[in-house]
Amino acid sequence: MSTDRRFDQADIAALRAAVRGTVHRPTDDGYQPLGFNVAVSRRPWAVIDVLDADDVAAVVAFAAANGMTVAVHGTGHGATPIDGHTLLVRTSALDTVELDPAARTARVGAGVRWQTVIDAAAPHGLAPLCGSAPSVGVAGFLTGGGIGPLVRTVGASSDHVRAIDVVTGDGEIRTATPTENADLFWGLRGGKATLGIVTQVRIGLLELPRFYGGALYFDGADAAAVLHAWRSWTQDLPAEANTSIALLRLPALPGVPPQLAGRLTVAVRYVHTGPADEAAALFAPIRAAAEPILDGLGVLPYAAIGAVHADPVDPMPVLEDGHLLSGLPADAVDTLLAVAGPEASCPLLVVELRLLGGAFAAEPAVASAVCHRDAPFHLYAIGALVPPIAEAVAPAEQALAGAMGPWLTGGRLPNFAASGDPAVITACYDADTVEWLRALAQRYDPAGVLAVGQVVR
Ligand SMILES: Cc1cc2nc3c(=O)[nH]c(=O)nc-3n(C[C@H](O)[C@H](O)[C@H](O)COP(=O)(O)OP(=O)(O)OC[C@H]3O[C@@H](n4cnc5c(N)ncnc54)[C@H](O)[C@@H]3O)c2cc1C
Repeated sequence: MSTDRRFDQADIAALRAAVRGTVHRPTDDGYQPLGFNVAVSRRPWAVIDVLDADDVAAVVAFAAANGMTVAVHGTGHGATPIDGHTLLVRTSALDTVELDPAARTARVGAGVRWQTVIDAAAPHGLAPLCGSAPSVGVAGFLTGGGIGPLVRTVGASSDHVRAIDVVTGDGEIRTATPTENADLFWGLRGGKATLGIVTQVRIGLLELPRFYGGALYFDGADAAAVLHAWRSWTQDLPAEANTSIALLRLPALPGVPPQLAGRLTVAVRYVHTGPADEAAALFAPIRAAAEPILDGLGVLPYAAIGAVHADPVDPMPVLEDGHLLSGLPADAVDTLLAVAGPEASCPLLVVELRLLGGAFAAEPAVASAVCHRDAPFHLYAIGALVPPIAEAVAPAEQALAGAMGPWLTGGRLPNFAASGDPAVITACYDADTVEWLRALAQRYDPAGVLAVGQVVR
């Protein structure tokens, strides 16, 4: 790594002396800069397991003094490439969860994954507003806004953040709330790590011990009937009803139900926060669309929210692509089917449409950098970069986006745009938000210490 030549043992010792946590150089066992997505090239100069905000500040100061950049790693679900000029702050030791059931809030360390908060909150009938995969990190998810299985009922999960402790790019430790450092509070919710490295968040919890929902799976041969039924059904749903639909091509692996392995299937996911009988009745048009092959719908404890999408938990090499849609007319469904339906030779593991709208489209109580709230659907594709399909994944994602071009808004959501490409990053925001984030980055990170990966500069 090129940066190595400019450093000697004294520099390494200085960094080690500056932090309470552990500094791992590439030859150390604990280095391992990869997490969930192992396809991303990550070769930081060092990985630092930080123990507190002072450690993060010390790493930022070291980087600033040595012309390096600092990136942050929660779980690697949204990893972007990192080279040898970067110090990678790993937050996994910031693992505290303090629940305040009376206030319906939780203080959560930046290294915590959603499932830990879900498990802590469940005995109190409280629901943390996670995403589809509870193994995703709380801080990484919330700095990208976060759309979860309740997005239409509650809006962006980051709308429910009460306070954020952060080390900004200038090395200062700050707290951001709607009234304290309000500009930071605005930009940290949606702006990913552009302005700082979050060390702790205080989040609001929903009183929701259980919900009606889960997933209903159909044979791929019924994809057209199910997708068209879903399209019509989603035209007029109340905000208590949340849904997505996915064309799945899952391999036969441990954890994949045999009915779903090695073939094309269609999953309709559903989460309804109202009475179970109303929720079940509302779902009738989807049940009537075709004969299900697997029925996972019912009244579920909120702690089982991860079962709705049943996302993979083990590390894998993946390539993702996400786009917002302006609508979903019947033509768009036919186009999607032509590219990813039963007649198509499509290598993608998942091609998913999520219904947005509802509370997500409403003005949040406290403004944030989360943009594009008016888009009614999100299109998301994920492919596994493994033989023999690895080479076919990127072209397939491009072909999907190209075919769906007439319905793409051009916008993206930050959590589905893990990339260092400025064009991809700016597509996550409207023009004003990009300008504000740039101006705030100039103020809170004047030396550009955090200007690496998915940041707005
Ligand atoms: C299987 C799967 C399912 C998903 N489902 C959803 C979903 O339902 N809804 C949704 O919105 N997203 C979803 N995502 C996307 C996910 O929210 C993003 O990838 C998110 O960035 C992951 O955060 P992380 O910390 O777990 O991952 P990491 O790769 O460790 O972090 C990704 C980025 O998040 C930021 N970040 C992480 N920690 C901090 C911190 N402490 N301070 C500041 N910035 C930080 C940084 O920009 C970092 O580069 C999903 C991703 C996968 C792989």
